[in-house]
Amino acid sequence: MNAPPLVCPACDKPMAPGGSKSGFDLWWCAGCGMARADVRGREAEIAAAYREMTARQGSPGASAYVRDAAANRAKSERFAARVIARHGRPDRVLDVGAGYGFLTAAFARAGCVVTAVEPDGARAAAVRALGAGPRVRVVADFLSAAHVAEADPDLVLCQDVVEHLPDPAAVLGCFREAIRRPARFCIRVPNMASWGSRRMGAAWWFMSPPEHLSFFTPAALRGMLERLSHRVEEIATVAETGELTNVLAHLLKRIAGRAPPTDFGGGETGRQPVYFAPQARRSAVGRAARALLWPAAATLRPVMAAFMRGDNLHSVSVLEPAAAPAASASGAQARGARP
Ligand SMILES: [Zn+2]
Repeated sequence: MNAPPLVCPACDKPMAPGGSKSGFDLWWCAGCGMARADVRGREAEIAAAYREMTARQGSPGASAYVRDAAANRAKSERFAARVIARHGRPDRVLDVGAGYGFLTAAFARAGCVVTAVEPDGARAAAVRALGAGPRVRVVADFLSAAHVAEADPDLVLCQDVVEHLPDPAAVLGCFREAIRRPARFCIRVPNMASWGSRRMGAAWWFMSPPEHLSFFTPAALRGMLERLSHRVEEIATVAETGELTNVLAHLLKRIAGRAPPTDFGGGETGRQPVYFAPQARRSAVGRAARALLWPAAATLRPVMAAFMRGDNLHSVSVLEPAAAPAASASGAQARGARP
């Protein structure tokens, strides 16, 4: 391999190449366990994959996010209520990668002014359509320092966004010069040190380049945030029933000799990355098996949650503005997120 090594965003050290998934080479950090997919020279291919996904989903109405609108809305309301109960009501929120806008709407309903940054046109339209009123401003673009400065946030939401970025530190690095007051960040990324990830390796459902490109462990997320001058208040994981169902389904498939490979040898190259595959493609047998496993997983969950590390990593951190504000915050462009 002639390309220079990718650098760990947490440790700032060269990473080592090792295996691949879905045709993308992976690089690993020996220090913190972080992994990154190598996308160099493949940006156009990734943009095309996202366009294909959007086209396949048809309208935002065809997306699982919107089909489960009531559940997503309730989940977002609970999240907003938790954040506000814990840290007080933020004044201005920046929702990075707002998706279909459930969180944007929840914080707007709670009385916050919210800027929703969402590069995908159909999703940006969905955020607008959710109709959270004059307190919401939608920016249909990739995040830039200029957008941050304009949003002037005291709360930044990055939920299920950072893992999509080929260079997360570059994108999150645009904040420090652009904010004018301390901002609290609530970040959620898949946890590569989870119980499911440890057991399933390459078959882990979040290991899905080119959709997901950066894979964090708790140490990696903390390390990256601290390198970016954040004061980390909390790093936590929660095991949910769905991931237990997935692990149980994988173990059953393994007994039946039908489990996908868990090593990173690249043998699964032809397989569709999980998220890009339409949900309807899951076989009737697979869906039935999961439905049967659900009660078992739900029963086990409280026990397992006590000692297993869940699939999602939540962090809360605070970033202070740079001591001497830059003359022009719009100079640095950070592009990334969902093409
Ligand atoms: Zn590292």
